[in-house]
Amino acid sequence: MSDERAGDAVRKAAAVRLEGVRKSYGDVVAVDGVDLEIRAGEFFTLLGPSGSGKTTTLRLIAGFERPDEGRIELGGADVGDRPPYARDVNTVFQDYALFPHMSIADNVAYGLRVRGIRKAERRGRVEDVLRRMRLEGLGGRKPSQLSGGQRQRVALARALVNRPEVLLLDEPLGALDLKLRQEMQLFLKSLQQDLGITFVYVTHDQDEALTMSDRLAVFNSGRIEQIGSPAKVYESPANAFVAGFVGVSNVVERGGRRFAVRPEKIHMTEAGAAAQTGSHASTAAGSSRSARRPRCTKARRTRSWRGSSASRTWSSAAAGASPSVPRRST
Ligand code: ADP
Ligand code: MG
Repeated sequence: MSDERAGDAVRKAAAVRLEGVRKSYGDVVAVDGVDLEIRAGEFFTLLGPSGSGKTTTLRLIAGFERPDEGRIELGGADVGDRPPYARDVNTVFQDYALFPHMSIADNVAYGLRVRGIRKAERRGRVEDVLRRMRLEGLGGRKPSQLSGGQRQRVALARALVNRPEVLLLDEPLGALDLKLRQEMQLFLKSLQQDLGITFVYVTHDQDEALTMSDRLAVFNSGRIEQIGSPAKVYESPANAFVAGFVGVSNVVERGGRRFAVRPEKIHMTEAGAAAQTGSHASTAAGSSRSARRPRCTKARRTRSWRGSSASRTWSSAAAGASPSVPRRST
């Protein structure tokens, strides 16, 4: 390979690349031919309902599972034959998986000790990461002496202390209550931006995925239905599954066509008043064709997916209710 082409390869190497990856357990096809490219420094989310293959995909990347077929690359290198400890990734599990008998500091230092890092350096790195995780002064406690949110941050500290290129997070906020979960979403996002580490984040919570991700992949039955930015996936769902799973949408039928219309894009008008816009979008919710959502310039500008999805509902009984459906731009 010429120097120039080698340079190109380095520049273009994705943090994580999956090609034709397949994994079955007996009759169950958990991952059914997944192609995926995650860029270095990206906050990338695997979003999908329970059982759609998200955890299996993450475990394949980590090396806890071997694919039946396909190729897995990290930083451009084929890691198919490497065990988990020889991959530059760390995983944060939903149940934290802390050692209950060890202190917080020893839990966090564990990976460094296994790798033979000297005690003085271990201590420095553990202190540094505990401070970053806002766990200063808690190193001497046992996991049972911490709150759920603190335990969660210990699990993060334990992964981050190894300074991995890629951090894999499997529903890391699933056990927290709503308020703490929202705080942790902000914390995780700013942490990821500070550290510049690639995050591969698994969740079934579409709001979480839309809020936090640079890009996301929507999983369904072991396959990826769509990959894109939150705005793209929300505004232009690739098909009826994505339209139904991401965001709240009302299906409206007009002239034999079905439209997926988001509640916040519906304008209520007085009975008899002319609707602002009423032209048809050539969209068919419920079919496998593109289920592009009708656009609303204002909503797009304000990134309106946050917290607004259930703010209005439309019913055909409402006098003069009129879905505002600008013409689809093709
Ligand atoms: P998700 O994380 O999206 O909920 P999983 O990847 O855990 O989905 O599971 C995908 C499918 O594979 C499910 O049907 C699940 O029951 C099955 N599965 C996952 N792990 C195993 C296993 N170790 N043995 C048998 N079936 C499994
Ligand atoms: Mg899972």
